[in-house]
Amino acid sequence: TTVLGIESTCDETAAAIVRGRTLVSNVVASSMEQHARYGGVIPEIASRAHAEAFVPVVSKALEDADMTLDDIDAIAVSAGPGLAGCLAVGVSGAKALAAASGKPLYGINHVIGHIAVTQLQFGDFPDDVLALIVSGGHTSLLHVQDVARHVDVVGTTLDDAAGECFDKIARLLGFPYPGGPHIDRHAQHGDPHAIHVPQGLTQGKSAAKHPYDFSFSGVKTAVARWVEEQQGLGREIPIDDVCASLADSVASVLARKAIAGCRQYGSDTLIVGGGFSANSQLRSRLVEEGERNGISIRIPRIALCTDNGAMVAMLGVNLVDAGICPSAPDFGIDSAMPMDRIVM
Ligand code: ATP
Ligand code: MG
Ligand code: FE
Repeated sequence: TTVLGIESTCDETAAAIVRGRTLVSNVVASSMEQHARYGGVIPEIASRAHAEAFVPVVSKALEDADMTLDDIDAIAVSAGPGLAGCLAVGVSGAKALAAASGKPLYGINHVIGHIAVTQLQFGDFPDDVLALIVSGGHTSLLHVQDVARHVDVVGTTLDDAAGECFDKIARLLGFPYPGGPHIDRHAQHGDPHAIHVPQGLTQGKSAAKHPYDFSFSGVKTAVARWVEEQQGLGREIPIDDVCASLADSVASVLARKAIAGCRQYGSDTLIVGGGFSANSQLRSRLVEEGERNGISIRIPRIALCTDNGAMVAMLGVNLVDAGICPSAPDFGIDSAMPMDRIVM
């Protein structure tokens, strides 16, 4: 089965072709640099960039694969969650390609794509596996019974996503958007115990009530307050230590709760995905905790963690192979697509 996957949920315009479990081509264009000076993605700018990049990116993916639309079995496109204007460009373009070629079209859930993409590197999922999805917009622990048919939410963030928390603190520290990778780099040179950073929903009644949920807004507030206090006292901010302490807190909560979820659900494997899973502190913490608990951790290489077309195509292959009906010709976008909805 060969699928063309198209991604345009945020600031990446991407297209890829997957055949079976093999990545045949993978093209990503990003408007990230155009947003850097605003401190966050500007939807209007991102949508325009998708309109410009769509045809060149899709053409390049077909060219790199030495294929035409005749050679593929289906097209898949992210229909949500994401920025409405961005999704509309990708979905409209994909509909036009499907109409012109007569190929079936699947409007898929981007977040579930972050799970499916791990098959390219690690092969198929064991039954009843748990997945930790961490990105700029999401932080969730999901129970994957069948990636083409049934995914349940085990836990989710009650406020900010992990990447969002990093990006906001990075902005405060003066790093350009997206700040997550800058925090990662500085954290590698700092003392993770230099500053006390709270760990949301890990203690007391709230933890008992929300064993697999996350909260990062308190982390953000605590770090912001500490930095402001130091600035008020005229002290220099120990950037490396702030980053290391922040990264340690976030990585340890994510790893601890994900592993606890695996034990509860009897999952001997943890799938990890989303842009924030590029974070080196999270990666090493997960591997460490996984080894200690006998749980194998599947974190894909970084290019597959951040937004790309391969994730969309890989989920598309699963849907075709499972005999799932393509989306109706009049399907729309859902900027808040729920995580238990896999296809429109
Ligand atoms: P979603 O997938 O929820 O729609 P998104 O498109 O913003 O959201 P991704 O592109 O998957 O998400 O991830 C981007 C996020 O990952 C940003 O918040 C970015 O700062 C963060 N990120 C990327 N690399 C790193 C890193 N090495 N350390 C920390 N954060 C990182
Ligand atoms: Mg992005
Ligand atoms: Fe994403």
